[in-house]
Amino acid sequence: MLIQLTYASRTSKTLVPDDLKAILVASQRNNTRVGITGALCLTNGIFLQQLEGDRTAVSLLYHRILSDPRHRDPAILDFAEIVSRKFTKWSMGSLASLESNRGIYLKYSRSSSFDPYSMAPTTLRAFFDEIMSNAAWVS
Ligand code: FAD
Repeated sequence: MLIQLTYASRTSKTLVPDDLKAILVASQRNNTRVGITGALCLTNGIFLQQLEGDRTAVSLLYHRILSDPRHRDPAILDFAEIVSRKFTKWSMGSLASLESNRGIYLKYSRSSSFDPYSMAPTTLRAFFDEIMSNAAWVS
């Protein structure tokens, strides 16, 4: 069964670009092997990640991610059966920290700072639909 899991967490320390790069390299290597796709955003010290794939594979990966010391305060924000994947191009894509993406964050925020913990599942789904189509990505 194909599912989508969305969670948020906070960075446990200030991460430098190389830290994010290391997470992406490991993600792309591992996710390709187990057929997981998705997207990872990091803004204001908050990670927001959507994972798509087989229910068991996503569940196993989420539990591995939970034990990673690079983040804390994980919270599942949305978990749903899906008919098809959204992120067919990326085993794990990462949203670039560019001015051009700020407007997208703001569009789905209740306040001037992006806070995924307070977002409803429908808003989160709309946010991921939008970034899939309109955001700039780390190449
Ligand atoms: P390696 O990458 O070789 O790492 C070996 C061990 O060292 C792991 O236990 C790892 O947790 C730890 N480690 C590596 N670098 C650091 C560091 N700088 N600080 C502390 N510990 C470190 N992994 C995926 O496979 N797919 C994902 O989609 C994914 N998303 C992630 C999202 C977030 C927000 C975070 C924080 C991590 C994510 N990871 C993801 C990484 C995951 O938590 C594991 O680190 C990774 O899957 C382990 O890969 P590996 O077995 O190839 O080990």
